[in-house]
Amino acid sequence: ARREQVAAWSGPGATADGVPVKLVANVADTESAATAGAEPVEGVGLFRTELCFLNRADEPGVEEQAAIYAEVLRPFTGQVVVVRTLDAGSDKPVAFATQVGEENPALGVRGLRLSFDNPALLVRQLDAIRLAADRTGAEVQVMAPMVATVAEAAGFAGLVRERGLRAGVMIEVPAAALLAHRMLEVVDFLSIGTNDLTQYTMAADRMATDLAHLTDPWQPAVLQLIAITAHAGRQAGKPVGVCGEAAADPLLACALVGMGITSLSMAPAAVRAVGARLAGVSAETCEEVAEAVLGATDPAAARAAALLVVERRG
Ligand code: PEP
Ligand code: MG
Repeated sequence: ARREQVAAWSGPGATADGVPVKLVANVADTESAATAGAEPVEGVGLFRTELCFLNRADEPGVEEQAAIYAEVLRPFTGQVVVVRTLDAGSDKPVAFATQVGEENPALGVRGLRLSFDNPALLVRQLDAIRLAADRTGAEVQVMAPMVATVAEAAGFAGLVRERGLRAGVMIEVPAAALLAHRMLEVVDFLSIGTNDLTQYTMAADRMATDLAHLTDPWQPAVLQLIAITAHAGRQAGKPVGVCGEAAADPLLACALVGMGITSLSMAPAAVRAVGARLAGVSAETCEEVAEAVLGATDPAAARAAALLVVERRG
């Protein structure tokens, strides 16, 4: 029966009692953008721009970047597309941006930190994003990866807004989650990257298969930080999304919505299962699921608690 519900669900995202939850796609290139455009998504919650440049030795000029971004934006005319500025470094090395020879690249000069010494790199990318937005009619918003301080968020937001675009930051570092309410004073939205937030909260490399029991977004400590961030969003009346792998887990999605998350961004192939699951639970049930998982002390207990509420309440 669940498989039929998944096949039948055709969007837009909402709980059984009609509370909207934006279901959006993670994309990286023209191909994934086309795949996403064919699914019942309301836009893009994460365009990973660094993946366009993994095999480029030199930085493309503003014009060339604009053309690359426009190809990805094209299926989404009139829809929101959140473009992430270069998240180069660590697991995503980009030849023209990444620092070489770092001892500990995951804790090094990656993401927004690349622009501390090289602001022109970010400025050129923002100019290209603005051009691509104008050419496609997508409603582009821009967010920065690997933000740790409010000052970083404010500096970034200033540059984005100078170009007439809405600005957000990713919550991937526990320091940023703990200060989500202050981040929201300087940006228009937040997007939680649960892959890195889990890695940095649990001090466990996201690529280490031996540590998979730690790099689990159902870890209660990670869920607490997500809840803090979502609560700050509700208080500020600003959107807070999730764009890491956690958003693609239908049961976890119920907990996230119950915490106050307003959008879930995921691989296009995951959207129908998440949409169908949310369509079968009320907002009140989601809140009960959130409360249940936040009371658990390990991932297995959190999952079991969530399942119990969903099966009892529907
Ligand atoms: C994340 O960290 O959860 C995220 C969405 O970004 P990436 O997986 O590209 O690091
Ligand atoms: Mg990340």
